[in-house]
Amino acid sequence: DDGNLFAALRAGFPGDLDAIAIQTIGGTESHAYTWRDLDAGSAMMANLLQALDLEPGTRVAVQVEKSVEALMLYLAVLRAGFVYLPLNTAYRAAEIEYFVGNAEPGVMVCSSTYFAEVSTIAFKAGCQNVFTLNTDRTGTLLDRAQHHPAAQEPVEVDADTLAAILYTSGTTGRSKGAMLSHGNLLSNARVLKDYWGWVPGDVLIHTLPIFHVHGLFVATHGALLNGSRMLWLAKFDPKVVVEHLPEATVFMGVPTLYVRLLAEPGLTREACRTMRLFISGSAPLLIDTFNAFRERTGHTILERYGMSETAMLTSNPYRESEGERRGGTVGFALPGVGLRICDDSGAAVPQGAVGNIQVTGPNVFKGYWRMPERTREEFTADGWFKTGDVGRFDADGYLTIVGRSKDLIISGGYNVYPAEVEGYLNELPGVAESAVVGVPHRDLGEGVIAVVTARPGMTLDPQRLVAELKTRIAGFKVPKHLFIVDELPRNTMGKVQKNLLREQHRDLFG
Ligand code: ATP
Ligand code: MG
Repeated sequence: DDGNLFAALRAGFPGDLDAIAIQTIGGTESHAYTWRDLDAGSAMMANLLQALDLEPGTRVAVQVEKSVEALMLYLAVLRAGFVYLPLNTAYRAAEIEYFVGNAEPGVMVCSSTYFAEVSTIAFKAGCQNVFTLNTDRTGTLLDRAQHHPAAQEPVEVDADTLAAILYTSGTTGRSKGAMLSHGNLLSNARVLKDYWGWVPGDVLIHTLPIFHVHGLFVATHGALLNGSRMLWLAKFDPKVVVEHLPEATVFMGVPTLYVRLLAEPGLTREACRTMRLFISGSAPLLIDTFNAFRERTGHTILERYGMSETAMLTSNPYRESEGERRGGTVGFALPGVGLRICDDSGAAVPQGAVGNIQVTGPNVFKGYWRMPERTREEFTADGWFKTGDVGRFDADGYLTIVGRSKDLIISGGYNVYPAEVEGYLNELPGVAESAVVGVPHRDLGEGVIAVVTARPGMTLDPQRLVAELKTRIAGFKVPKHLFIVDELPRNTMGKVQKNLLREQHRDLFG
């Protein structure tokens, strides 16, 4: 029976359970966990949860710093058949209050540091069980779990049973809870294991946070299902990663991590000699980064695209026989994923045209938690999910993400796609990165503005940049104001927070 995602993952564990499954690196002390440790640790926590007399479907909300024990807790929730609800560790009282009020968890786990704050919020929301878990393997969760047996039979569930609620990153508005089932996650994990050619002996460097699809699902499911060792960093540190590359074969990162790796002189072909695959996602990878990384290491980063609601949707090819990895694109729909591009009326656009990306497949979520209205709005009559992303296929079928439908600027009646303008801006000498947004404008409805960062050591002249752009693209697309800043505002997943930029410059045009 592989209804339970944990049971399916455990089936991938190697025969030798005393082999090392996870090795922590980069901290003050290094700690090794065997496959048996993972199994036993998660079994004890699962038994503890099952002893709490919770209703089926109970949410277990977890806001702790990254640790192997936190990963065991995720596995325990799967085993026990409850619903895992990870929260970004950056969230504080007001945010936690929203999520806890919305999700009504039956169990909450937080670090000892925040116990007073979190338990007050939890008790107010009717949650009776608040445990602590710290990065030094202390806390009441482990204290209590210790008294439970180290074996547990994963609860039988069907493919549609909820496994997790993942709140979206809140890039375009208030975070929504995406309800993901055991079947959603398992189907995606299996497709990726095959598509990315996981092989025996693979070793993954795990450096992403585990409250998000990328680090929690894509990375850990891949390694667990493949019985692969993980080198585990609590926080990304480019020096530590570079130092351990020669022991690894797979790395997954968001684009900013690649930028920071490139700033390390130690990142060389030699350092990457054992590496099989570098994967990027969660935000667009600049073509400059893609090229620079290939030049430096000889490796072509594989970019893929996905979201909280669907896990992974598309990927550049892994095998050369299936095509090159094309920079600036997110590749092809994964096996089993349907992907189409439609205009606002829902009709398919002609080949090559820009439109709304809609998807279907066994990985597509069950809906937004307690937002039936919103769920209805985001699915088409024939059951496809509207991703909110805008894109186009090139002549060879590679998908390029052009932006988000919410970011589309309509200025004087003309459509302006921010990603297109950003592409031209980024090519100008001295420009490192840019973000183009629309802000309210008396006459035009929205006015186009740009926020730009300079390459190290370069000074930019806004007027010159605007003049340069005017020679390249239509006047209505050219930013009316261009601001030079030190850094673009980003959230933890490396996504540019355009809502903050729009807010900041809201009154620019009166
Ligand atoms: P919210 O839905 O709350 O506004 P969010 O969409 O940023 O936040 P996530 O589900 O974490 O929350 O992120 C998914 C989004 O990330 C996708 O819809 C897409 O816009 C973006 N994304 C993911 N991978 C890529 C990629 N390779 N290139 C460009 N964009 C990407
Ligand atoms: Mg989204």
